[in-house]
Parts: sequence; structure tokens; C-alpha cells
Amino acid sequence: MSLQTKKPYEALTTETVVQVVAPLNHFDDVNQLEIKEIGDGNLNYVFHLVEPATGKSLIVKQALPYAKVVGESWPLTLDRARIESEALIKAGEYVPALVPKVYHTDRQLACTVMEDLSDHLILRKGLIQGEVYPKLAEHIATFLAQTLFHTSDFFLHPFVKKEQVKAFINPELCKITEDLVFTDPFFNHDTNDFPEELKSSVERLWNDQTLKRETAKLKHAFLTRAEALLHGDLHTGSIFVTTDSTKVIDPEFAYYGPIGFDIGQFFANLALSYLSHFHHSKDQHKRQQFQAYLLNVIEDTWTHFTEQFSQLWHSKGQEAYMQVAGVEEDFFAQVLEDAIGFAGCEVIRRTIGLAHVADLDSIEDQALQLKLKEKALALGSTLVRERKQLTRISRFLETIRGVA
Ligand code: ADP
Ligand code: MG
Ligand code: MG
Ligand code: MG
Repeated sequence: MSLQTKKPYEALTTETVVQVVAPLNHFDDVNQLEIKEIGDGNLNYVFHLVEPATGKSLIVKQALPYAKVVGESWPLTLDRARIESEALIKAGEYVPALVPKVYHTDRQLACTVMEDLSDHLILRKGLIQGEVYPKLAEHIATFLAQTLFHTSDFFLHPFVKKEQVKAFINPELCKITEDLVFTDPFFNHDTNDFPEELKSSVERLWNDQTLKRETAKLKHAFLTRAEALLHGDLHTGSIFVTTDSTKVIDPEFAYYGPIGFDIGQFFANLALSYLSHFHHSKDQHKRQQFQAYLLNVIEDTWTHFTEQFSQLWHSKGQEAYMQVAGVEEDFFAQVLEDAIGFAGCEVIRRTIGLAHVADLDSIEDQALQLKLKEKALALGSTLVRERKQLTRISRFLETIRGVA
């Protein structure tokens, strides 16, 4: 019988992180590593380790036992590091080219050793600079179709699926989304963050009973509909890109939820980028071109997603009901309706909630920033309220164009 001594959790430092990678024999000499902490520091540490002599490198991401936002701090489960690591590994089974390779997971230290993607750029930054990524839509559509289909009841045996639901129970991270995306922005809550000049628009939103009633339905879907393993935080800051490569990172919010959620978050962040280019693109022609590109990404993502998911549905579907006429069409109609509704909530919360996006907040022209935030609120509200009527992706795009 062997007696295992468990090392207790400790926050790693640029000195102690070496102990995590030393046993992996990835580097020739771990004493020669150059190590930097490169995370944003709110929830997690991200250590970058490079060996100059060989050019070999790794990333070690560690969860901190607390979350820190605007000076305040509250405890947050370390289990999210396990969830993130397992979600990356699960995605790697189906789309290995679209996620960082995971080399090692340490449960005690709540950390993951993964592939260094420093040659990629965070998509949000690239979009703010007006960069075009020709493969983005196809790659994200593939990521969505493959991960969502293969973790759903359309593919898995119901016993296996329910085991998976259990493995990805993520209550504390889900609660953050439940509060910050679906509740707080719609009420006068102290986590909200918006300038005084937006007050009257925000109050109109708080008094919009139809909007709040529809948002309640979306929140209920998020709470209850365990359809597939979601990424859970698929904004443009969770996507690394180059011209021909796309990598999805940071699935610590992963859990079993409604399939439209990841799609909606991605679309919402593209819509926010669209609005922000009334500032970021100074030249009118370039702006129109770039905004058209962003709408194309939304449209192509949806088209490729439905094509691939449908192909999987017919080639790998496990259930007789999946071949019944109309079932597949009904499913895609529901996913689109959900995605548009979730996109609406995301647009609103990124505008007046706790966590904003750099696309809008980096706009120095304060009057223009306010005007665009007004438009974002109008867009978000319309998407939530009218999602049942937006039965084609083209109507979603028209809504974005119409509000802008
Ligand atoms: P958080 O959950 O704290 O948001 P992320 O996983 O999004 O952490 O990582 C934060 C930042 O760390 C990223 O924006 C990126 O700059 C850097 N980073 C994270 N993972 C990698 C990686 N595999 N390769 C290179 N840089 C990374
Ligand atoms: Mg962050
Ligand atoms: Mg992140
Ligand atoms: Mg994160």
C-alpha cells in the first residue's frame, strides 16, 4: 500500500512554477528558463516559460482561490481549473487543431500546462486593429459544431451523457454568468457600471417589462437546459488567431447548457466590434468594408455550423427521432432563436454590467462612445425582445445594420 502525500495548494510564483514543468522533461534545462506572469490577474495566473537556447516554451495557467474585481475579492472554487483542463482535453478529441494542447494537469495546484500560443493574437485586439481573419468563421463553426454535437444527446448514450453532465457541474462559475449576464444589468444592482449620461437609457431598460420577461426565459434556459458541453465564455478575448490559425482558450466556465449560448456570445462580441468601428475605422470606405466582414463572419459561422452539425446529425445520430421529418429544422430554429436572445443579453451586459469590452471602452471620443453604447443597448433589447421573429440569420444581420 502506498501512502500518497498531497501537496497543498499554493499560489505559484515565477520561481516555484518551475517545479510544475520539471517532471515533464519538455525543456533541456529548466534552470535556464525565462519566466513571466502574463495574465490579467483577476482570476488566474498565466505563466509564460521559455528556454532561450532551444526556443522551447510552455504556458502554465493556475486558478487563484479568489476573484478580484475593482478592489473587492471573493472566494472562487479552484475546481474551475479541472473543468478548464478537462474541457480543453474534450475539445481536443474532436478539434485538436482549434485548442491548445494540454500537456499536464495538476489538481492540487489547480493548474494546467499547455501549449504556448504567443505567436497568436487575441481576436478582440486584432478586430480592434481592423485585422481580417479569413478562416475565423469556418474554424469557430467547426469548433462549435464538433464540440457541441459530440457532447450532446444527439451523439452520446444517455448514461454517458449524464455522467458528462456530472463531471462538468460548475455551479460557482455558472452563478457568475447567471448574475452578471442575466440578472444584474436588468435591475438597479451595484455590480453595474455605466456613466451618468447613460442613466436615462438604462432606466428605460430597467422599466421594460417585456424585455425583463424575455430575459427571464433566457436565464431559465441557461439554468436548466443541459443540451451540450458549452465553452461558457466564448467572447473574442477567449480566441487566439493568426491569419490561418484559430485557437479557443479559457473554458473555465464550461458546463452543460443550451447550445445557442456559445454561438450567441461569439455573435454578440462581433456585433460590439461592429459598433466600435464607427470609431476604430477612421476611413469611411475601410469602415464599411470591415463592418461587412464582421457581418460575414456571423453569417458564415452560422452557415458552416448548421452544415457541419447537420452532417454529423445524419452520419452519427443515435436516435430514431432524429430522422423524423422536421425535427432537425425545429432544432436549428430553436438554436438560432436562443443564440440571438443570448447575444442580446451579452451585448447589454458588456455595455452596462460589471465586465465591459475594450472595443467600446477604449474609444477616447466620449460623446461617440456614449452614442455607440446607446446603440448597443437598443440592439441588445431588440435582439432579446424580437428573437422569435428573427428566424433567419439574414434578419439578425439586418437588425445589427438597422440599429447602427
Ligand atoms: P483568464 O481566465 O484569466 O481570462 P485566459 O486563459 O483568458 O485567462 O488567459 C489570459 C491571457 O493570458 C490571455 O489573454 C493571453 O494573453 C495569455 N494566455 C493564456 N493562455 C495562453 C496560451 N496558451 N499561450 C499564450 N498566451 C496565453
Ligand atoms: Mg481575463
Ligand atoms: Mg480569459
Ligand atoms: Mg477565464
